[in-house]
Amino acid sequence: MPDKKETLTQKYKKLLAASQQLEAELSRAKRTIEIKEIELKGVLAQAHEIKNTDALTFLPNRRKIIVDLQEEVIRSSRYDVPLAISIVDIDHFKKVNDTYGHVVGDDVLRTIAARLREQIRHPDTIGRYGGEEFLIVLPNSDWRAASEQAARLCNKIRKLQVTSNDHILSITISIGIAQYRIGREDWEQFLHRADMALYQAKNAGRDQWAAAEE
Ligand code: GH3
Ligand code: MG
Ligand code: MG
Repeated sequence: MPDKKETLTQKYKKLLAASQQLEAELSRAKRTIEIKEIELKGVLAQAHEIKNTDALTFLPNRRKIIVDLQEEVIRSSRYDVPLAISIVDIDHFKKVNDTYGHVVGDDVLRTIAARLREQIRHPDTIGRYGGEEFLIVLPNSDWRAASEQAARLCNKIRKLQVTSNDHILSITISIGIAQYRIGREDWEQFLHRADMALYQAKNAGRDQWAAAEE
């Protein structure tokens, strides 16, 4: 029965071809899924970045810098290593807005944020803590190290000429510093002491730093 034998061979070949085609389709589908997974990871990373970034200055936003602070407070307690923070506040910033308008004010904020960021080295991090306030977290540092950095930042910003809308502005900053009291306070009390030190710097005439008691 040569006819039937041929038919079986043909059937077998057809099935083989169909199976090969399915395998190829499956492999293409797998590749597509892989590409979509990579794209999705990229989109999620972007969303994460946006969630943690301040839209005006592109610095880490308040939420992110507070998380950094909380993590470093835990690390400092666990490993008994020093930790310092600095709150940087632009002096008389309301006057900048009132005199030149909010657009210039925003430009000034962006410029100051960029200049501050340039001065900050790993593992220190800086974020936009509030309107015209920035928080610097300095792991493994005591208040003396933070004060050296603060003096440098005050000098740098004082010497800067910020240009915006044909205006040339001179800006100064004040800085409040605190060193973490390991095991004796939580992150909010720590932050509060840096804030109090900032008020000291303001009351002492601005354009300077002050450190809270150890
Ligand atoms: P001090 O030296 O005591 O810090 O005085 P100050 O004027 O800087 O402080 P104050 O807290 O009175 O004013 C802060 C101003 O910052 C008021 C607010 O309008 C302005 N500000 C906050 N966020 C922004 C912003 O995103 N853009 C602009 N243009 N201004 C902002
Ligand atoms: Mg302020
Ligand atoms: Mg201010």
